[in-house]
This record gives sequence, C-alpha cells and structure tokens, in this order.
Amino acid sequence: MTSWPLSTPAADLTAWIADHRDEVLQEVRAYVEVETPSDDRAALQRGLAFVEDWIARHLGAPAGREVTDGGDHGDVVVLDLPGDLPGDPVVVLAHYDTVWPLGTLAEFPFSLDGDVLRGPGVFDMKSGLAQFVWACKALQHFDVPRRSVRLLLGGDEEVGSPVAQDVIRRIAPTAAEVLVLEASGPGGTVKTARKGVGLFQVHLTGVEAHAGLDPTAGASAVLALARVVQQLHAATDLSAGTSVNVGVVSGGTRPNVTPGKAWAGLDVRVADPAEQHRIDEVLATLDTGDDRVTCEVTGRWNRPVMARTPGTAAVYERARDLAAGLGFELGEIAVGGASDGNFASAAGAAVLDGLGAVGGGAHARSEHATVSGLLQRTALLAALLATA
Ligand SMILES: [Zn+2]
Repeated sequence: MTSWPLSTPAADLTAWIADHRDEVLQEVRAYVEVETPSDDRAALQRGLAFVEDWIARHLGAPAGREVTDGGDHGDVVVLDLPGDLPGDPVVVLAHYDTVWPLGTLAEFPFSLDGDVLRGPGVFDMKSGLAQFVWACKALQHFDVPRRSVRLLLGGDEEVGSPVAQDVIRRIAPTAAEVLVLEASGPGGTVKTARKGVGLFQVHLTGVEAHAGLDPTAGASAVLALARVVQQLHAATDLSAGTSVNVGVVSGGTRPNVTPGKAWAGLDVRVADPAEQHRIDEVLATLDTGDDRVTCEVTGRWNRPVMARTPGTAAVYERARDLAAGLGFELGEIAVGGASDGNFASAAGAAVLDGLGAVGGGAHARSEHATVSGLLQRTALLAALLATA
C-alpha cells in the first residue's frame, strides 16, 4: 500500500466531488447538447466556443491560448493553465468532435437513468472533459497545488486528426507526461498501448478485352486482385499483433469484359513498429501474377503505434496507486483502436490514455457512461494533476 500523497484526505476529495454531482451532470448535458460532428465546421466552432467559455468560467482565463486553423474541421486550441508546482507541464489531450451528425439529439437525446448517462458523445469523449474541469476545481477548492497543464482541444480526432496531429507532435515532447481523456476500456481500464493503424488502397490496372471473342487478349485486373487479396491477408500475424483486413473490393464493368481495373481498400493494425516496416515491404512487393497487370498502392499510416514504454508504465503505476488510495482498482489494457495518444507516444512522450468516461458503446446508439465512473475518475484525475 502506498500512502495517499495529497494534503486533502481521499475521502474529503471524493465527498466534495459527489456533493457537486448535479452541477457536473448539468454541464455534461449542456456539452452533449451542443452537437459537434467532425465534418461540420460551423457546429464545431460553436462547440469549441462552448468549451472555452466553460473552462474560463470555472478555471479563469488561460495564461496562453494558441489556435491552429482547423480547415474544414474545428480549430485546434492549446490552452496554458499554469499551476503552482514546478516542472514541465502535463499535456492533457481532449477532442470536442463526435461521430454523430447534426440532429442526432432528436432521436437520441441526453438522458440520465439511475447511474447511466446516454447521449451522442457522452462516452467518446464529452464526459472526459467534464472530469478535467471538475478535477481542477476540486484542487482549487482544497488549495492543493496543481501541476501546470497544457490542454489541447482538437476538433478532428474522429477523422484521424489531420490538423491536430502536427500540434500534438510539436507539444508532446515538452510534456512531463501526456494524459488522454478518451473513454476507458472494459471495466474502466486505462489504455497503456494502442495499435498503429494504416489505411491503404490497392489499384490494379490490366488490359480490357472482349472476354468471349478472345479470352487471352485481355489481362484481368480482378483475377490479379484475388491474388493480391490473398497476399495481403497472409501478412496477418496475430502473434505479433498484426492484422490486415481487405474490407472493400470492386472491379470490372460487365460480365463479358475482361476487367481492366480493380480496387481494394484495406485496414492494417500493428502493435510494433517493426511490423509496420514489414507491412510496408509487403505492400511494396505485391505480385499480380501477370506482367500485364500493374499494381499501385496509395494511402498511409494514419496513426503510429503507441507502445507501453517504461515512461507510460510509470505513469500507469502512479495512477494505479492513487486509485487504490481512492478505494478502487485501476486495470490497464492494450487495445487495437488508435487515438491522439498514438501521436504523442510516437513523439516520445509518456502517455496514459483512457482516463475518461467509464461505460461503452462508442460510435453506437448504445453509447453510455456511468455517473459513478465519472465522479471516481474526476478524483483520480485531480490526484494525477497534483502529483508527479
Ligand atoms: Zn474519442
């Protein structure tokens, strides 16, 4: 057992947060009710304004504010929230976009039923930001010194963070550690490893011909695609944490035409950077089985591997001990899905991800978060921001 390091007893911290339950839930509701689909810039800018106003109302004006134009998506804002403790800042990653289109609220409104919150984005990841705001407020209330925070608010995470990723790569190396407010894994586990994700397209070009008049005149791109799909799936190595899935194929024009074109879209997951290089090699050496059929690969690695580095393990162990002090067990998990934590990890930072909501159903109508989890993790986040 480790001793509780904060000057405020864990029970007092927990009780104060529980006393503010209704206020916290009202704010989660208000945030969920500002719809923020990743592809609607006007809605995202409204959501961002809501969030910045919310933070300023509770925590005061930030000492610094850096804006990166989000283009078609929401702007990326980094807020500096200086603390009283010395040392490099903690970078906290949050995204305010969701996968839900405008108008979803009409059929899937916010609701509270016993311990369960429902609504678009409540799990991924609007409750996470409420935890952060109230963790800082709790520390303020008890006069517990906090570490300096750089809070990143991204508006394009659900589409792969095309804009936020460069900002994350730039600020992550300045961080003592990176905490990610993404939703937790099963049973409230935090995420200490995430797979890297690649999205690629394979384009095959053969020779079109009348398949009936002369079956040898053409070179079938569809037949070559069938061979290439076999090679791609054969690159799966589950023991190494690598999976390749060809999820979409198309090709040809008519049954009696030797197809001149065929196409496949694939998703690749890797748990290890060496595997990423092996897959690059596979993609560069695909064999169409016919010299007349050419193969071109487009696409890219969308997110790098987030490995369980010693730095990440150390942050996890501190979080686990603090959770024990608060009276609950904090497990860890490695997951296949990627987040902005992947970019921070690849930039060399110690990253603890999945500190946000407890619940499930991300990106689905079953999306939900528990009130008990939200309150518990608000206390955990407060303790993490007050210790190094
Ligand atoms: Zn998310």
